Amino acid sequence: MKLSEKDKTHFYNLKKGFEGELLFDSYLEKLQGDCLVINDLLLKVNQTTFQIDSLMITSDCIHVFEVKNFEGDYYYDAENDKLFPKSRAVEIVNPLAQLMRTETLLRQLLQNLGQGLPIQSAIIFVNPQFMLYHAPMDKPFIFPTQIYRLIEKLNSKQSRITNKHKMIAEKLLSLHMPQSPFTQIPTYEYEHLKKGISCAECCSFLTTVEGRSCVCVGCGHKESVTSAVLRSVGEFRMLFPEKKIITTRIVEWCGVVGSRKRVQRILETNLTTEGKKRGKVYK
Ligand SMILES: [Zn+2]
Repeated sequence: MKLSEKDKTHFYNLKKGFEGELLFDSYLEKLQGDCLVINDLLLKVNQTTFQIDSLMITSDCIHVFEVKNFEGDYYYDAENDKLFPKSRAVEIVNPLAQLMRTETLLRQLLQNLGQGLPIQSAIIFVNPQFMLYHAPMDKPFIFPTQIYRLIEKLNSKQSRITNKHKMIAEKLLSLHMPQSPFTQIPTYEYEHLKKGISCAECCSFLTTVEGRSCVCVGCGHKESVTSAVLRSVGEFRMLFPEKKIITTRIVEWCGVVGSRKRVQRILETNLTTEGKKRGKVYK
């Protein structure tokens, strides 16, 4: 469906942030020392929720990394401890305040658990296209050109993970809340969504059916009709968990396949059924 400008921006920011985290993960994979890494933790302490992009436990401390995928020119305003994009006088979320908040809340949580490992936190600017003018030296900023050295430094550290560290990691994982309260999904209805099979590669709706394959006119990606229909059923189920999966609806949902018989055969072979021949519900 068509997203509002606000939702589009929100989606773009989420996507950008997620890509940044993936990029930083690829750096963390180069870690060789004895350590435990937990990504994307959502925790709660004293009714306050906070999120940690990357947490790394070594024998003598806990590293907290806040990952930012900002792109382009920014400047640092020392008076207010804030970052501003160079081209616009719009204040962006203050990453330093965010980091301090995370650190304080994590410290409280660890204290509640009776664990007193020191915390070292840093903001990682992961995008190689990021530039910060007037960057202060005494702030916990790690710039794209410094990430490699950060990993090297961590690798050179003597660390030995013991049961105590594993227990902290397990405890944090057990406290992780899988559903983010910050999730804002725009409201949508079946009738308003575009029907058809989206391309598994480029996400466009430019797919056509040729024989046994579903082919994307946009990028040329080919997928078997069976796999494309089942993938669409999966998307349908995720978007409408309360709606029943019945042939008529899936034929409409998949659009391009056209043949009711064909869709029915795919559903029958790959899903289990409930109910009689007419009005069959697939699970
Ligand atoms: Zn495509």
